[in-house]
Amino acid sequence: MKDAAPQPTLLADYTPYPFRIGGVDLTFRLAPKSTRVIARIDFAPNPDRPGRHDLRLHGEGLKLMSAKIDGRKVKPARDAEGLTVAAAALPEGAFTWEAEVEIAPARNTALEGLYMSNGMYCTQCEAEGFRKITFYPDRPDVMAPFRVRIESDLPVLLSNGNPVAQGEGWAEWHDPWPKPSYLFALVAGDLAAVSDSFTTRSGREVALNIWVRAGDEDRCAYAMDSLKRAMKWDEDVYGREYDLDVFNIVAVDDFNMGAMENKGLNIFNSRLVLASPETATDGDFERIESVIAHEYFHNWTGNRITCRDWFQLCLKEGLTVFRDQQFSAHMRSAAVKRIEDVLTLRARQFREDMGPLAHPVRPDRYIEINNFYTATVYEKGAEVIRMLKLLVGDEGYRKALDLYFERHDGQAATIEDWLKVFEDATGRDLAQFNRWYTDAGTPRLSVRETWQDGTYTLTFAQHTPPTPGQDEKPPRVIPIAVGLINPNGDEVVPTTLLEMTEAEQSFRFEGLASRPVPSILRGFSAPVVLERQADAAERAFLLAHDTDPFNRWEAGRALARDVLTGLIAEERAPAGEYVEALGRMLTDEGLDPAFRALCLRLPSEDDLAQALHDAGLTPDPDRIHAGREGLATQIARQLQKPLAAIFAQMETPPPYRPDAGPAGRRALRLACLGLLNRTDHGTRAAALFAQADNMTESAAALACLIDGGRGAREIGAFYERWQGNRLVIDKWFALQVAHAAPEMAAQVAARLSEHPDFEWKNPNRFRALLGALAANHAGFHHISGAAYRFYVDWLIRLDPVNPQTTARMTTAFETWTRYDGDRKSMIRAELERLAATPELSRDSFEMVSRILGADG
Ligand SMILES: [Zn+2]
Repeated sequence: MKDAAPQPTLLADYTPYPFRIGGVDLTFRLAPKSTRVIARIDFAPNPDRPGRHDLRLHGEGLKLMSAKIDGRKVKPARDAEGLTVAAAALPEGAFTWEAEVEIAPARNTALEGLYMSNGMYCTQCEAEGFRKITFYPDRPDVMAPFRVRIESDLPVLLSNGNPVAQGEGWAEWHDPWPKPSYLFALVAGDLAAVSDSFTTRSGREVALNIWVRAGDEDRCAYAMDSLKRAMKWDEDVYGREYDLDVFNIVAVDDFNMGAMENKGLNIFNSRLVLASPETATDGDFERIESVIAHEYFHNWTGNRITCRDWFQLCLKEGLTVFRDQQFSAHMRSAAVKRIEDVLTLRARQFREDMGPLAHPVRPDRYIEINNFYTATVYEKGAEVIRMLKLLVGDEGYRKALDLYFERHDGQAATIEDWLKVFEDATGRDLAQFNRWYTDAGTPRLSVRETWQDGTYTLTFAQHTPPTPGQDEKPPRVIPIAVGLINPNGDEVVPTTLLEMTEAEQSFRFEGLASRPVPSILRGFSAPVVLERQADAAERAFLLAHDTDPFNRWEAGRALARDVLTGLIAEERAPAGEYVEALGRMLTDEGLDPAFRALCLRLPSEDDLAQALHDAGLTPDPDRIHAGREGLATQIARQLQKPLAAIFAQMETPPPYRPDAGPAGRRALRLACLGLLNRTDHGTRAAALFAQADNMTESAAALACLIDGGRGAREIGAFYERWQGNRLVIDKWFALQVAHAAPEMAAQVAARLSEHPDFEWKNPNRFRALLGALAANHAGFHHISGAAYRFYVDWLIRLDPVNPQTTARMTTAFETWTRYDGDRKSMIRAELERLAATPELSRDSFEMVSRILGADG
């Protein structure tokens, strides 16, 4: 596919499509190797693009059998990306395009367009997959109602919208809501439904179905319950109601992404639908709840109002992630959810923003749009909306959202449209705020404090380091939530929102009796790095007294990080104060168990590598691993008694329930187990593995056994028990690699890659093994270079089969420049080997080039 270097697409080049579409009629005659797609599309000139224009349609890998305009045969000019009918050959005014093409879903391993998974047909069209189904203006600003007829022997035939008619071997669907082609979906298979219903607040009766393979019906209850709660929540909180008679969800085993919000027919990776206590962990249940909600929420933020072009991807994703975060916070503990979201943001988005792949929330160029489904667009996109809400207040936010839905329903919108509704609804000027969308990089916020005659002054300075293609960054609006606490532990200034707009800016607090301890960036009010040195005593004080749960956790986190980086960089271990503070927090029964579990979790090895890099040091993966292990063992020894007591106390009685309460108790109990396991020779883990009646405990116990270099028998038993269950066997692969000792990780991964169950063309299985290897920080970066080689060998093998997944997995190397010379030269050699692969996909080519471009 790579002849010359592929050309980028630029935001600045946008022009409206010269035609509008009145309606689309599609007929599918399904056959694995020769599916016929017959399309009939009504075009009319677009008044926004006056003049005569060629008809340009996207299309890739399609065999064109016939093409007609207004019933007359035409011969369009073909190229690798589509076809063109010259303006001169088109009628003036409206016309009808008809085409018949042939495609081979059974040979589609890229899982984009129409493909097959275990004998079932399904589609994935976002971002540009529809052009692999038929010739079409495959861009989000072309919206049309669709009518679809499916012909097949398979019993279940689904598409978007409402069912119209069906008979032996065929079914017809009609979607009245105009939509872009990326929201098209079709499913045909031998599937079983789990059904329920929902009555909207205006009284519309909606049939809900979750379609799975026969035998999986008993693992859909939680997904269905989550869907009904999400539908109700969107009515209550956003006033948004569902707009079709039926809502279908289909679970698919072979899927590149998590899930897809196709109008009325969501398609899900089966790992985000199927769950039972025996097969899914608490984390899986939580994720299912949030992704089911996310895809449902897209019905308004994404489907009814879509994106004008792919540069506006954050318009639908940032907003919908923000909405699903709000939903989870309402369903569970808001404090715990916020901490989890920030952990993810820092682990994925900060890492991206500080490396060669940094890009703005709204990028202005791309080669392959699939490479921009990133943590920056999704997670930082959500943070930007969270800040906007803080700045305009809850009421202003709701007013702006109401205006957004009213003004843009049925349209393909932009970030400018989005900000304009906030300006119009609240009267606020958002010109400076817009920089959060246009400028890449994570701002650094430093702070100075002065105390004089009862006046306490905080002076902040902001600075954003350069990112690829962007050197100069003007100051941004940063909402800084601050509270002040007296030395006796009382809060003297409750949470106050400071709006920083200058490069340097001071804020005064007057009339205070004594110098306060500041709690800055409460609730993580902005996605910035707060550079503030504090001593261990102050951090321990905040860990004990801060009224803001996020900052309370943050204080403990900073303590742990300071101890660990000291331990790793200088081999000194003043951990006493930290472990004591941790002990007090651990035994504080007034605190939510889930919160205590988060406090017990040490920063990851990758977090520590970043922290050392930020401090101007070269991170050594071996020393990071040893330092973190050493501190964990010290905690285990020093807190042995309370850990053992809480391990016993937090046992959850049967039956298993996945909701926040019992899940939090299990999280705390298993966090204690992870530490106790370092001194009890695996006795507790082995006992728990033997008696566990749920996957949360079973998988955690197995991980502990592998951590301790034990568990050979249990690994075998786990496999025997779950051999037929793909999702559980994914865990079996991942656990062994993720928890392997660093010097063994590459070997373990290599051995498992020869296992007959390593079905590497399945993205979940591939990620279970290779993703776990990349996540084993010390193992992946082992100085032998064996893991780098093994990893790239597999990327080279996967690329021709599935470019999208391959390209994504190159991000394992996005932090490569922070390591030492030996590791850097090994990684560079591997990346260059990948880049030099003949016929490398456009997806992987773009990613490797960007990552390699980082070397300074
Ligand atoms: Zn989404």
